[in-house]
Amino acid sequence: MRYFFALLLLSWNFYGFGQQRKIIDVHFHTRSAGDYGPLPPPNPVTGKRPDAATNEAILNTNYGLLRQNHVVKAICSGTLKRNADFIVRDPERFISSLEFPDHQNNPLPDTFTFRKLIVDKKILVFGELGLQYEGRTLDESEYEPYLAICERYGIPVAVHTGIGPPETPYRGSPKFSIDAGRPSHLEPVLKKYPKLKLQMMHAGYPYLEETKAILTVYPQVYADISVINWVLPKAEFHVYLKALLTAGFGKRLMYGSDQMIWEDAIPLSIKNIESATFLSGRQKEDLFYNNAARFFCIK
Ligand SMILES: [Zn+2]
Repeated sequence: MRYFFALLLLSWNFYGFGQQRKIIDVHFHTRSAGDYGPLPPPNPVTGKRPDAATNEAILNTNYGLLRQNHVVKAICSGTLKRNADFIVRDPERFISSLEFPDHQNNPLPDTFTFRKLIVDKKILVFGELGLQYEGRTLDESEYEPYLAICERYGIPVAVHTGIGPPETPYRGSPKFSIDAGRPSHLEPVLKKYPKLKLQMMHAGYPYLEETKAILTVYPQVYADISVINWVLPKAEFHVYLKALLTAGFGKRLMYGSDQMIWEDAIPLSIKNIESATFLSGRQKEDLFYNNAARFFCIK
């Protein structure tokens, strides 16, 4: 009997509140102070202002929350310089991904430099590619040499799909277009680079049909469920997640926070997945860890 209670307690501890579950965050941003202006806006959901006075404060707060929530790996989307700050703090936890466009207006490196950064293991993932904010799409010829290099070296490419926040074109991204976020724009890329590992960020929300079409026809594509797991009304997020699971993609969906400057999005996004009663324990483990470990070859 005592053994039974011990087992019960153990499983409660591990899975009762999801506190002990190992997590990989495939969509984590390494922001700098001032990236969102001198007085960054509050979290649109929680109303909490970010702790963003200095680079050190941003790093400390994010790092603390990742550790508290058992996020054992985080794919760092940001400038290489800022990613390095996080990697120095904990080289086992953080993985460098080159964001473009970034918040410092850095251009894309030329292809010679880009290849060297990959060979030197300074870039392990290419993204977030927020091309939609410039009204552009991944199938434009300018990106072809970069995609060819990524395919050759097995570097996953992570591209923003779906939509953006309210009033995006009026708030600093006048070229943003809804159409540029359609998952169907990925098809020419997938046809041209069949071995390219592609991460469809935000799982193409709200384009459920196109997302299902891409995931069905191109089994190499994985999707992250970042931002929709804390910005959307929870019921709406659950409907979308359930639709993708029902369609059979439970082995290719990955947890991401996309916390941007709002570090409290990390626990919130985890909670909104843990509270989905239609998910089994195994499905949660896949979403939070197993699928990303497979996609990014994390041991
Ligand atoms: Zn995004």
